Amino acid sequence: MTWLGLNQLHLDNRFRQLPAAFYQSVAPQPLKNPYLIAFSTAAAKQIGLDPCQTSAQTLSEYFSGQRLLSGSEPLASVYAGHQFGGYTPQLGDGRALLLGDLVGTDGQRWELQLKGSGKTPYSRHGDGRAALRSVIREYLCSEALAALDVPTTRALCIIGSETQIYRESIELAAAMVRMSPSHIRFGHFEYCYYSRQSEQLKRLADFVIEHHYPQAVEQSNPYLTMFAEVVERTAQLVARWQAFGFCHGVMNTDNMSIIGVTLDYGPFGFLDQYQPDYRCNRTDDRGRYAFQQQPSIALWNCVCLAQTLSGLIKQSDLEAALQRFQPVYGIAYTELMKKRLGMEGRTQQDGALIDTFLQLLEQQKADYSIAFLALEQAQRGDSEPLMTLLGASDRFAAWYRDYRDRITANAAAVMAQHNPRVILRNYLAQAVIERAEQGDFSELAQLHATLKQPFEVPLNRYAQAPPKSENNVSLSCSS
Ligand code: AMP
Ligand code: MG
Repeated sequence: MTWLGLNQLHLDNRFRQLPAAFYQSVAPQPLKNPYLIAFSTAAAKQIGLDPCQTSAQTLSEYFSGQRLLSGSEPLASVYAGHQFGGYTPQLGDGRALLLGDLVGTDGQRWELQLKGSGKTPYSRHGDGRAALRSVIREYLCSEALAALDVPTTRALCIIGSETQIYRESIELAAAMVRMSPSHIRFGHFEYCYYSRQSEQLKRLADFVIEHHYPQAVEQSNPYLTMFAEVVERTAQLVARWQAFGFCHGVMNTDNMSIIGVTLDYGPFGFLDQYQPDYRCNRTDDRGRYAFQQQPSIALWNCVCLAQTLSGLIKQSDLEAALQRFQPVYGIAYTELMKKRLGMEGRTQQDGALIDTFLQLLEQQKADYSIAFLALEQAQRGDSEPLMTLLGASDRFAAWYRDYRDRITANAAAVMAQHNPRVILRNYLAQAVIERAEQGDFSELAQLHATLKQPFEVPLNRYAQAPPKSENNVSLSCSS
């Protein structure tokens, strides 16, 4: 593998193999006086980009819309989606452009998208821009989830600018580059299906199979194999969200990835206090996307995708594939929760031990992440934090006896590998944003460095629960 500087990278445009009905060519609109704010060397390595050969100046020129990488033919794609349960017939890349794709260091092909690049034919009433604060949140969260081994789009860099945009007040616009093997959403399939373009839908499914589910080609119905795999990946993804306390906030079908990665970061939140009905999205009045709803909403979204494939897959086969969601989810969730609790092997009571632990957290209004760390610390001989957090009830004493009988001497070591010392709590992101809005990006760099190594960092200032007023806050969608 040769490591290249940015101006040596060459992009292909694989998405253009699809019929022209799927996209429109759009040139990025340059930002004013761009400059580099943040750069993820881990993401750069994935695509063979050499940080040492890539100056801040070059990055800001290419990723502010001023220059195009060799081979890049930017496009905005069209999709649709169920938003809060209601169908919207046309959405699309309203403030992001697909720049092209390239083969990374692992042989995997990565698409590069520029977010905040200006208006497209799908911008509707929006300005095509992204506020600095929302870009910072997406950048940090992409890289944080990747470090937790939760499938996600990646973030390569943030470019700041002097371009002003209007949200709740005047704000500064920024851009970011995100990377994923695919940015295709369930909503791309819905767009074809509901606009009765069955030939285009088949082309889309063939494209997804060729590039992302090649093993399906040899099966008797490749479309069914693809769909079954999407259902499984989605179940596994949401299992990891639940185990780490991640709430996406806008699980519309246009934000659901066809390759099962976390996509489109808006008003997301990590649980502070364990509160199953936590809503991170302030506009979600009915709690449709509340934390505990996420598995059933993910399945609902898979049902929407199934509907679009009803011309290619028998109803009974679609139903059988959907039936797999729950067991796949259950196994993946239980496995990860057991690791977080330091439980190796398998016993009959594992499910009950997990459930009761969560009930105790809810009853005591305990902080979700800190509770696991306190439990781990207790296995190393210091029970004080655990007793302070949970020790008040008889129910806890009974649970703890059963738990101690269940685990082995290795428990603390297993827990250390699966319990993050730091998660991207909203109050931490907010502190970074406030500094960044004043031109100070040092906190951003420090928090990013910590989130990159969630299991290795010592318990530092980022491991604190938030002040009470900042507990489980809900954010608005505006970004
Ligand atoms: P989201 O809620 O971010 O998933 O976006 C829903 C739809 O609105 C997508 O089609 C986005 O491209 C579009 N959108 C969101 N914000 C903007 C913006 N500032 N300008 C143009 N389009 C936007
Ligand atoms: Mg979206």
